[in-house]
Amino acid sequence: MELHERISAKLSKFRPSLTLALKQRVQERLAEGRPVYDFGLGETKGRLDPGIREAGERAFREEQTMYTDPAGLRELREAVLQWLGLSDVYGPNNVIICTGAKQALFNTFLATCNPADAVLLEAAPWVSYQPLATAAYAFPVMVLPLGTQREWLKVTREDVERNLDARPHAKLFLLNNPCNPTAQLYSAEELEAMLSVCAERHVYFVLDRLYWRILFDGRQYPEPRIDEQTRPWLIQVDGMSKNFRRTGGIRIGWAVGPDDVIRAMVNLQSHYTSGPATPTQAAALAAIRRPYDPGIVKELQAKRDLLHRESKDMPHVQIWPTPATFYSFWDVRGCFGRRTPAGSVPQNSDDVAAYLLDAAGVITASGAAFMQKGYLRLSFATPDEDIIHGMRAARQALAALA
Ligand code: PLP
Repeated sequence: MELHERISAKLSKFRPSLTLALKQRVQERLAEGRPVYDFGLGETKGRLDPGIREAGERAFREEQTMYTDPAGLRELREAVLQWLGLSDVYGPNNVIICTGAKQALFNTFLATCNPADAVLLEAAPWVSYQPLATAAYAFPVMVLPLGTQREWLKVTREDVERNLDARPHAKLFLLNNPCNPTAQLYSAEELEAMLSVCAERHVYFVLDRLYWRILFDGRQYPEPRIDEQTRPWLIQVDGMSKNFRRTGGIRIGWAVGPDDVIRAMVNLQSHYTSGPATPTQAAALAAIRRPYDPGIVKELQAKRDLLHRESKDMPHVQIWPTPATFYSFWDVRGCFGRRTPAGSVPQNSDDVAAYLLDAAGVITASGAAFMQKGYLRLSFATPDEDIIHGMRAARQALAALA
């Protein structure tokens, strides 16, 4: 067997997830005793809520360690519908509990796409959408906004229509609202325009709403319309990893959608994971069964304000508004072609990210991971001192660009 044949063609082009690569760079710098201001990882920190911890502990103590229904614990599926305000619209058979939102997305691609079907993604698609689609033998396509609608890289109904016209094999359009990495929030009208075109054309509208609780300045989440027309075509993906503190590793997510699609996912999942770990399902149940504590949103809003204050008039950079999520999105194209004190000349967001890390110890996520090489994403779910010192270090480094 030739070397190039050892790994399947579809996986051989994969790069490791950005998150893991960043974690490694943080460790390396820390081991060298150099300061690190970590804006790279998209993970909530802080203390785990004792209610969540105790539910997980109790599940182990009470030996709740046998297989669950492959669709997930029935109580958890019911609680998911309550959490999403959908108990009047759907039943537990419309919900599948998965190993994180990632698996809910992978299940969605696997359950709906035939080989080479196109899946339409946003203009700055979250890093794992493409690898997951490719692994499901689907064909990822970015929907690029045209003309004046280009503002904040938001996609419109016209953009979706144009791409559907061009791709008769498009099976679904996937929207992340609010959006990682751009932090933009589509309004109810914008959402409805895209949802209705998908329903009219019998294309799935997949709504990844993983950050839906983290909305600032009193904003309300724009819920998608669910009625006879949209119900067969709407699949919602959500989970535990962003709306609570320190819960990314609990690895619980879910999908809610039409009976046949969810049934296909459960069937599939019964063969490849048998559903997620039982104790963490118990922990997730404890988390979402209660009224949501808005403390985390208040805290993140204060961090957003702090970051915006500390990064005001940052040289060569345009910082986007942050109505939601915990990401600040930076247009760094103004840095391209300038000279660093060491003599290099950044040409893309990878270069700017590398410069900020080397010169300032500031870790960011390069837009290249999101197919947008003019931008950086900074996660501000990080201690206040790191925001303050990190922004000062970044300012100094950027001001030194000639
Ligand atoms: N969707 C988006 C937009 C995300 O940002 C992430 C995680 O970063 C995921 C899905 C996957 O979430 P999970 O950790 O629950 O698998």
